[in-house]
Amino acid sequence: MLDLNAISLTTSASLNGLLATCNVCGTQEKIVFYSVLPPKYFNEEERDTRYFICKKCADKLKKLMFFVEREILKQHSYCYKKTNFAFVDKRTYNPQTKRTINIKLNFSSIFSSKNKKKIKCNNGHYKVANAHCIKCGLKENITAHHILKRIIFGENGSVIMLCARCHQKIEDIIREMEKKIMHLIKEIYFLIFDLIKNIKFKKNFKLRIKKKRGEYIFSLQKIRN
Ligand SMILES: [Zn+2]
Ligand SMILES: [Zn+2]
Ligand SMILES: [Zn+2]
Repeated sequence: MLDLNAISLTTSASLNGLLATCNVCGTQEKIVFYSVLPPKYFNEEERDTRYFICKKCADKLKKLMFFVEREILKQHSYCYKKTNFAFVDKRTYNPQTKRTINIKLNFSSIFSSKNKKKIKCNNGHYKVANAHCIKCGLKENITAHHILKRIIFGENGSVIMLCARCHQKIEDIIREMEKKIMHLIKEIYFLIFDLIKNIKFKKNFKLRIKKKRGEYIFSLQKIRN
């Protein structure tokens, strides 16, 4: 018998040597104890539903989750704009999730090894000369901040100048805003986990997230190629 309490509760806890089986593909090799809810949006207590999963399936799951998260956040450009605006203007802004979100799932392109295009993370701030922070007026350590996050929206957004300290503050506020959005549709992560178990086919799907009487309903529809 496997004693779950004896296993360290980190996602990378290797269970090599123990007879655990991947909950997705059934292999007994390179098994990790894995929480479907990502640490960047959920705290330790919320992440108590865990599965045994092999490294291969975990990689696939991460790719699929990253894709879906990005597609969801992409549809919240107004949240990013308003959060930035609220930061400069001292107003507060509470993000809400849209009534309907449609996401096209083309599994072969999501999982293809060619799909390694790395987009520069928003934290790669670059220094700007002769500018001042639009929040506090400081003229030192000025960095450019993308109103629409680069990792999600790409390179073509407008930037504002902020000192390193104010920049850090707005990035923290934005992280909280993203957390709130992903929290509202927590079930999406369990749905993605179920999806990864069933992807043996090369069909493409449309994932629909629909808000109805305060609740989110998920549906999956096959699309013709
Ligand atoms: Zn597996
Ligand atoms: Zn500043
Ligand atoms: Zn930034």
